[in-house]
Amino acid sequence: MAENKLTFNKKLIVFDLDGTLTESKASPDKEMARLFTQLLGQKKIAVISGGRYEQFQDQFLEHLHLSPALMRNLWLFPTTATSMYEYRKGPGSASQGGWRRVYAHMLPLKTRRKIIKTFNDVFKELGYQHPKKVYGELIQDRGTQIAFTAVGQDIVEQLGAKRGVAIKLAFRKTGWREKIAAAMQKKLPELEAKAGGYSTVDVVRKGIDKGYGILQIQKHLHIPIKDMIFIGDQIVPGGNDYAVVKTGVDYIQVPGPKEAKQVIKKLLAKV
Ligand SMILES: [Mg+2]
Repeated sequence: MAENKLTFNKKLIVFDLDGTLTESKASPDKEMARLFTQLLGQKKIAVISGGRYEQFQDQFLEHLHLSPALMRNLWLFPTTATSMYEYRKGPGSASQGGWRRVYAHMLPLKTRRKIIKTFNDVFKELGYQHPKKVYGELIQDRGTQIAFTAVGQDIVEQLGAKRGVAIKLAFRKTGWREKIAAAMQKKLPELEAKAGGYSTVDVVRKGIDKGYGILQIQKHLHIPIKDMIFIGDQIVPGGNDYAVVKTGVDYIQVPGPKEAKQVIKKLLAKV
């Protein structure tokens, strides 16, 4: 969508996390932390990602040092909006500094076990060999989603963003991600298996994508889609943000965090 056709005057800014606000699974740099914080002072913001809640906290929020007043302008939609968290300070609020889970659409335990077993069956059948060196968990049960990360969940944490992301990108080029996702989909037609991040295959309930995320955001924040703008790095056919297009939401495709910062600067200038 051409930027000049957009009104920047939206009530809610929706961001993808990995590859948009930060490099994949890396923390935001100082400039992004500053710009995002500034924007929160002026706009409501929702962040949606395939990652789980703990990742939102460790990778992103911990680096921002937001005041409670600012956090009340922020909503988190982990695991592709199959769960939602909001900040509520005061009596009755849960632990974790006032972040409260509003809902979680969990997959039944039986289904989760079946998905994990199917991943292992598929690896055997395809003759897929795990890389010699992996970093942390390969198959992660996120409750609402099962995620296979070929090089391990903790690669960026262990190797740093530059090397970690380079290895993930190299994996993406092998084509294994698509092959594994296709084989999983064939065996689990009642679910949805798809290539997620650079080295990830996610299995979720059918119909869970970023478009579902936009609808969940509309429903729970009571903000119509026309008053939102979505900013993501994969709003291209086959990309994991592409499903937002069918909701009719205004969007801006950015190649990465550098360009996302430019968009934030424009948003700040238009307030
Ligand atoms: Mg992304």
